Amino acid sequence: MSLTHDEITRADASVAHNYHPLPVVITRGEGAWVTDVEGRRLLDMLSGYSALNFGHGDKDLLGVAHAQLDRLTLTSRAFHHDGLATFCAELAELAGMEMVLPMNTGAEAVETAVKTARKWGYRVKGVPDGRAKIVVMGGNFHGRTLTIVSFSDDPDATADYGPFTPGFVRVPFGDIAAARAAVDEDTVAVLVEPVQGEGGVILPPPGYLRQIRQLCTERNVLMIADEIQSGLGRTGRTFACDHEDVVPDVYVLGKALGGGIVPVSAVVSRADVLGVFRPGEHGSTFGGNPLACAVGTAVVRRLRDGSVQQRATELGAVFAGLLSELPGGAVAAVRSLGLWAGIDLRERTGRDVCEGLLRRGVLSKDAHGRTLRLAPPLVVAEADLRWGMARLAEELAQG
Ligand code: PLP
Repeated sequence: MSLTHDEITRADASVAHNYHPLPVVITRGEGAWVTDVEGRRLLDMLSGYSALNFGHGDKDLLGVAHAQLDRLTLTSRAFHHDGLATFCAELAELAGMEMVLPMNTGAEAVETAVKTARKWGYRVKGVPDGRAKIVVMGGNFHGRTLTIVSFSDDPDATADYGPFTPGFVRVPFGDIAAARAAVDEDTVAVLVEPVQGEGGVILPPPGYLRQIRQLCTERNVLMIADEIQSGLGRTGRTFACDHEDVVPDVYVLGKALGGGIVPVSAVVSRADVLGVFRPGEHGSTFGGNPLACAVGTAVVRRLRDGSVQQRATELGAVFAGLLSELPGGAVAAVRSLGLWAGIDLRERTGRDVCEGLLRRGVLSKDAHGRTLRLAPPLVVAEADLRWGMARLAEELAQG
């Protein structure tokens, strides 16, 4: 019996089966690499769904976290603490916004954005009570809470969870005419992932985000960009919206904001939008806690001079070149932006290729059957990236 087998057997017995992890048990992480319980080193080309953009065990981020752990970890929002204003002010500045509502997980931040939009719709736009509508995209993934899965079109995400929250209208991603037709006087927001990560790294048609921005401006509707996976450097820019010079009304952030250390999410917007909240109308015990704020502030500072984004752009060009050289017989389509790629496979399932890659020393993840997605840490060494892509080329060539 191997240590891996033992651990997986124990997990199968005591952990709910809401995930189907690859058969690997990780015990350490450093940079772009992890070590499993057998002592095998593996290149991480998933990065915790982009939560590990800065890699495993980043010394600066860990140093900040350790120092904060020694001083103060939690106050609740019943009191102020001396890291909250700094985090919110610096994050707002990074985003070119004015206010931040800190939460913990991505889904909580999306829920918060939905509540913000509805409240804004009733209090500012003047939508009649109970009529607020939010336009969402086909193939979306915004998290797992009940309101969020209420507007998912993925049967696995919705089966046996009804009744669902009303008030959402879904239109095909990338179809501006459909979005235009869906917006009416009760519409308070259009919610969009600038790149659909869980959908398989689906890029919108050129100009689409700008058209959504224009639609929202014309119809007095909030443009909410869920940049939980696409934001904070992954695509080579601070936000994926930056590729089209689009500034939404609301950013929803998470994942990498916590530096791969602690869950940190946030809704970031202007004061006329987030200003709709009054005390007691929304909250979270852990949202904006001292540890989260310390790590989140360090992440924001890391992104401030643009060098992380620049590196993702430069390595992204290398990555795109390597992706284009993958065996055409195995690959139907490739999409990439920065250090993020979706690879549609012709014959094999994504899971099958992930299992093959694991045997070759690379961690990756499938999306929706025949798609493989890759998102190496932004700190990956070029030689390691090339090594990982060579393993993928071998795996695909072997079929
Ligand atoms: N929104 C997007 C775009 C995501 O990719 C995810 C997670 O994959 C979420 C929201 C949900 O985040 P969390 O799993 O932290 O709730």
